[in-house]
Parts: sequence; C-alpha cells; structure tokens
Amino acid sequence: RLDFAGKLARRLGAGLEEETVHAVDGVDLSIAQGEVVGLVGESGCGKSTLGRMVAGIMPPSDGAILYKGRDIASLSGDDKLEATFAVQMIFQDPFSSLNPRMRVEDIIGEAPVVHGLVSSRNKSDYVDEVLTKVGLDPELKRRYPHQFSGGQRQRIGIARALAVKPKFLVCDEAIAALDVSIQAQVINLFMDLREEFDLTYLFISHDLSVVEHISERVVIMYLGRVVEAAQADALFAAPNHPYAQALLSEVPRLDQRKRDFQPIKGEIPSPLDPPPGCHFHPRCPQAFEACSAARPLLKTIAPDRISACHLND
Ligand code: SF4
Ligand code: MG
Repeated sequence: RLDFAGKLARRLGAGLEEETVHAVDGVDLSIAQGEVVGLVGESGCGKSTLGRMVAGIMPPSDGAILYKGRDIASLSGDDKLEATFAVQMIFQDPFSSLNPRMRVEDIIGEAPVVHGLVSSRNKSDYVDEVLTKVGLDPELKRRYPHQFSGGQRQRIGIARALAVKPKFLVCDEAIAALDVSIQAQVINLFMDLREEFDLTYLFISHDLSVVEHISERVVIMYLGRVVEAAQADALFAAPNHPYAQALLSEVPRLDQRKRDFQPIKGEIPSPLDPPPGCHFHPRCPQAFEACSAARPLLKTIAPDRISACHLND
C-alpha cells in the first residue's frame, strides 16, 4: 500500500504557500514476473509518481516497495544493488536523461563497469553487444547523444537500462515523444526484449490503444487512486468504473463495436483540492448522493478484477 504526499508551492495572493499534494493515495499493486501491466489515466493522476516509486527513484511517504518480497528501503550492500539494477526506468524524453557530454559507450558502459558486471577490458565489446540488442550500429558508440535522432536516443536509453541486466522496466510515456512510425518500432523492441530477457513491464501511457495492444493487465488511476484494474481484454470489452468507461469511450475501435458510454467531461480537478468522497463525482454521469459523501473502496467484482465505485455496492 503506497502513499506519496509531496509539497507543492502554490501562488496565493502576493506570496507562495506550500501545500501538500496527495499524488498517490493508498495504491496497492503487485506485479508478477513476466507480466506486462499498463497504467493509464489523465495527466496529473499520479501515474509518474507511482512509476518513480516502483523504480526506487522516489521513496514513498508511506508504505513500501517490495522486490521479491523484501522492502527495498531495508536492503543494503549487494542486495540493494541487485534490486536497484533489477528495476530500471525508461523516460519519455531520452534526451534530457542522457548526459550530453558523455559518449554513448560511456553512457551505456559506465554503470556495468563501476559495479563489476563487466571488466573495463570487456567494456567495449559489452557495449557493442547491448547496442546490437537494441538495433543500433555499434560503430556509433563514440558519438554523443545530440548526434542521434529521437528514436535512436530512446534506443540508447533502453540500452543503458539493459546494460545492468534488469528484470523489470518501468516505462513512463516512453514512446510519447516519438513519431508514430517510430513508436511502433520501439514497442516491437520492448516486446522482443521481453521475450529474450523474460522482462516484466509497468507501461505508463496516456495512449490507450497502445496499452490495449501490449498489456496483459491494465490499472486505471484517477487523482492518485486506483479506480479499476483487470485483465486487459476484459477491461476493454466492458469497463466497470464510470471513469474507465469514459476514458475507454475515446479509444477508436477497429471493429466498430459501438460504445454507448459518454465521453469524459470537464477538466481533472487540482490534486491540491480533490473532491470529497469519490474523486470522480463532479464529472461522473452516474453520480448519486453517496458519491460525494464516502470514498468508494476497491472491491473484487470478478476474478482478477477490482473496481472502486458505489454502484457496485
Ligand atoms: Fe460515479 Fe459514484 Fe461510482 Fe464515483 S462512486 S464513479 S461518482 S457512480
Ligand atoms: Mg506523467
């Protein structure tokens, strides 16, 4: 069960005032080895914060991240290093996460050498091998990040993650900044790597078509809370939660199956002042009295399926 509450400066009158934002509010999620889990929701719903906590980049303000059953915050020495390498994050903008003054061979080869995964003598061969895995020509390894296209830079970011032999990739909008034609290539690369290295994925995206295509299970968040989670095919066939229904109504269907759900209306409220009760109630076409009064709890509504809506009570 994870919480993340951070301080956010808000302009109030003449000055700035700090307020607490509950970006992730009681999320409980387990991901099995080899699974591909999609995490969706509008921007500002806490997806990236959750992803960063899972990747160990940001500690939760309450709760714990367990890797193989052990709290990563309690690990030290080799165990800590193993868990740190095991979960790697791929970011939306590979450029800002690649050091512009480092050659690609150092970007990829530095951590494995420093931490003894490869000897410095074998670094060059190792970098060649990793670059080949991500579909880049090893000849390019002496270049700097700015000498590559966006799609190539994302491949370098993936190579850097792969170089420490991860088990689990947290991809945060990892294809969002790429041209559509390149997006498909990078998705295919993720899926090929999954096969080859038995990787597990948490795939954070606002692009529901992509999430439907690659995920086995999908988790939907709204204002810091999980509102529904289910196997992807079941969820996309018949979303339960009104927010899930509204989100999914915007996904174009190849088979032209008719969706009767109304599209989502209004803006996502500020996470500084989430509406009481069900956070979704001001936008929900099915809201009734109970919705503004009490928080709906996540309930199992079918095998492998949870939803948090008073309509299920
Ligand atoms: Fe809508 Fe009420 Fe369900 Fe929230 S609890 S999604 S407001 S019906
Ligand atoms: Mg985000």
